[in-house]
Parts: sequence; C-alpha cells; structure tokens
Amino acid sequence: MYNPKSLKAEEFICHEEILETLAYGEKNKDNVELIDSIIQKARLLKGLNHREASVLLACEMPDKIEEMYSIAEEIKKKLYGNRIVMFAPLYLSNYCINGCTYCPYHGKNKHITRKKLTQEEVVKEVTALQDMGHKRLALEAGEDPVHNPIEYILECIQTIYSVKHKNGAIRRVNVNIAATTVENYRRLKEAGIGTYILFQETYHKESYELLHPTGPKHDYNYHTEAMDRAMEGGIDDVGLGVLFGLERYKYEFAGLLMHAEHLEAVHGVGPHTISVPRIKHADDIDPSVFDNSIDDEVFAKLCALIRLAVPYTGMIISTRESQRVREKVIRLGVSQISGASRTSVGGYQEKERPTDTEQFDVSDQRSLDEVVRWLMEMGYIPSFCTACYREGRTGDRFMSLCKSGQIQNCCHPNALMTLKEFLMDYASEETRALGEKMIQDELANIPKDKVREVCREHLEKIERGIRDFRF
Ligand code: SAM
Repeated sequence: MYNPKSLKAEEFICHEEILETLAYGEKNKDNVELIDSIIQKARLLKGLNHREASVLLACEMPDKIEEMYSIAEEIKKKLYGNRIVMFAPLYLSNYCINGCTYCPYHGKNKHITRKKLTQEEVVKEVTALQDMGHKRLALEAGEDPVHNPIEYILECIQTIYSVKHKNGAIRRVNVNIAATTVENYRRLKEAGIGTYILFQETYHKESYELLHPTGPKHDYNYHTEAMDRAMEGGIDDVGLGVLFGLERYKYEFAGLLMHAEHLEAVHGVGPHTISVPRIKHADDIDPSVFDNSIDDEVFAKLCALIRLAVPYTGMIISTRESQRVREKVIRLGVSQISGASRTSVGGYQEKERPTDTEQFDVSDQRSLDEVVRWLMEMGYIPSFCTACYREGRTGDRFMSLCKSGQIQNCCHPNALMTLKEFLMDYASEETRALGEKMIQDELANIPKDKVREVCREHLEKIERGIRDFRF
C-alpha cells in the first residue's frame, strides 16, 4: 500500500501507485484544462507531485511542451541565476563484488584492469585536479568490503582534504559509494563529506533484481532505503539519480519523484540533487543491449520536468553527455556539471586519457579551461563555490536560503569570487580576459550595496594573492 511516510521501500516506492500514475498520465495527456492548471502550479514555484508531473510527461502537445520548457528556463533563472557549479569525479577503486549488468566493474569482468589508489596516488590525483582548478569532487568506488572498506574511503577523504598544492584546495568532497549502514554514514558525515550520492539505477523492483543478479547490491530494499539511513546518520544532503535506459523512463520518473516526496515527508527536506545519467558504452558493456534507451528529446523533457517538479533540488549532468546535449539541458534546469572528467582509476595523473580502467566512455572530453570558457561564452558563470556546506547551510537550512530569495546576495558573489580564483590561478589568457569582463558586469547584479562592496574588496584581495573568501 502506498505510503510516502513509510520507511519500507515497497511502500514509499509503491509499484501499484506508479502503475496507476502512468495510467492517470496516459488518460489525461490531452486534458488541456488539467495540463494548464499543472503548468500554472509549476510556474508559481509550488513544485509538482509525481502524478501531476507524470501528466506533463505523458503530454505530447508541442505547444504545451514548449510552455513547459519556457517555465523550466524561468525557474532555472529565478532560483539558480546564471551560475553553474563545477565538479569532477575521482575514482578511487574499481574493485567490485556486485554483478550490475550495465557496469564494467561487475565482479565477473575478468578482463578489466583492477586498480585501487594508494594514499600516495590519491595525493597525485588530487594535485592534478587542483592544478586544473577543481575545488569540489565526487568520490566514486566499487563495492568491495575487502579492497574498499569504509576505513579506506575515510582515509582517502582525509588525504584529499589535506592536500594543499600551490593555491589549490579541495573544499568539498561528495561521495558516491554503495549503500551502507547508519554507522558508516555517521562516519562519512564526521569525515566532512558534502552530499551522499547514490543512484537508484531503477525503481522497478523486478528489473532491479535482474539487473543486479549477485552481490550485496542485489537487495532492492536495502538499496532503496539507503537515503533514510544516511539521514539517520546525520547526512542531510543526499543526491538521487536513475540510470536512464534500464527501465521505461515514465516509470523511473514517477519513482524518482516519489522518492523525493518520501524524503520530504519523513525528513522534512527533499534531495539536495538529482542526477540524470544515461547508460554509456564501457569495457564489456554494450548499451544497445538495454532496450529502454531514451533519445535526446525525451532526455531534455525529463530534465525540464524535474526542474518544474522539484524546483529547489539541484540537477547534475556529467560528461556522459556531449557538449551539445549539455548545452540544451543546462538551459532547462541543470545547475551542476562536471568538467574534464576521467572515469578511470588514477586517470588524472596521466597525460593521455587512460581507458583500461574506465567506468564508461566520456562524451565531453574538453579541458576544464575549455568548459569554463564555453560556459561564459553562453552567459553562464562557472562557480567553484563550496560555501554553503562549509557555513553549515545544508539540508533544510540550504532550502531556506533558496526559498528566501537571498541566493543572489550569497551564491552570486561566491560564484564571482571563486571564478576569480580560477582565473588568477589556472585559466588561459583568453579565458581570463572573458572572465574578468564577466565579473565586472556581474557585480552589478548583486542586489545589496553592502554585499557588492565587500565582494569588490574580496576580489581585490584575491588579485593580491589571498584566497578562500565566502559569504
Ligand atoms: N558502486 C556504487 C554503487 O553501488 O552505487 C556507485 C559508484 S558507480 C562508480 C556510479 C554510477 O555509475 C552507478 O551508480 C551507475 O549508475 C553509473 N554507471 C555504471 N555503469 C554505467 C555505464 N555503463 N554507463 C553510464 N553510467 C554507468
């Protein structure tokens, strides 16, 4: 029986409720009056529940879809301005005992090179990432209690935060590791992680079990209830995601929103981020085997509707997607992107992109400097800000900042100051020239005089070599 407040996976992600939702969407996909009222609700930043959002997903009327896109853009501009937060994944280990059929790290893959970073190698990777200009990382690792126990992950986090190379620093470490215990989440929190990210892969239990035939990840309920344990362990920023291509996208979309509603209902705060990965080719993985792949149009529609349904949840897009697709969905609501990613273990220290330990092929292979310049050319401010979490603005406190409309007095100057650091320390001449102009123009968009003045002073200090200012 469907119950968003339940702590049981099969009650808050209720299969029957999803089927009824899909039927409701199908029945109402031409119901203009209902569609208009849902669109109007989204326009008022009220968010949408899974049923309402599923009606919009089912709707195929071109003029209505255009309207959804234009509201997604409006919401994006209003809540996130023109800032795009930058991050990079860091692969610690590809040892894994699970049997995920879509992932080349699966335990039965005897062909892929297995590798786990030593602490010395972590320092080298972090140094290379700092030398590009990165300040925020997402840690990635396979599940293997012998090779990658929680102690190993914790040690890596400590090493990462300790590396201070030139003006570089990693100021926020997000973690994407397998579902674990409340106690381990508590330890991750104590180690100073930002967001705990775990992709559901698919919300369809039967498919989930087939796609994860062996290993601890086979347990659908344990995996689906992970975010509740993370929150119980004190982590209040959690990141959801679905691996699109595994199951029918309408089913996943309803499940994803039900998961967000569940977190809000039980913990009083929804997910901090939602990621939207699509299956990619990798070592022994052929994406065409999975017959639920979605084209770029559907992908864009999903991104736009996530923006409408959960306006205060950040949306992340990785380098799985090409420059062209990223361009489209950034406009429709994405607020965070990775740049210059290497999905191999130890990949950043290498001059040439290694492919022998890669988790998936990277579509967008540009350097961070190129990605930063490209964003600015499109009018976006690349932001290396990590202030919220360091100022304790996580969970509901972050949501209050969003809802109070104070973002422009807080996130905007922080974006400009961290961009300035990037320009001073890492940018090419061309990028720097473009960025300096952008900072001067964008200073005018800080509403409060006092904040603008302080920001200007900090920018001058950054010019003189001082680092790490924040509001
Ligand atoms: N091992 C962790 C777990 O069990 O959730 C997560 C880390 S894994 C390195 C990160 C994510 O990569 C997975 O959750 C999955 O969604 C995604 N992934 C795996 N294989 C992929 C593929 N072939 N193409 C695109 N993404 C993939």
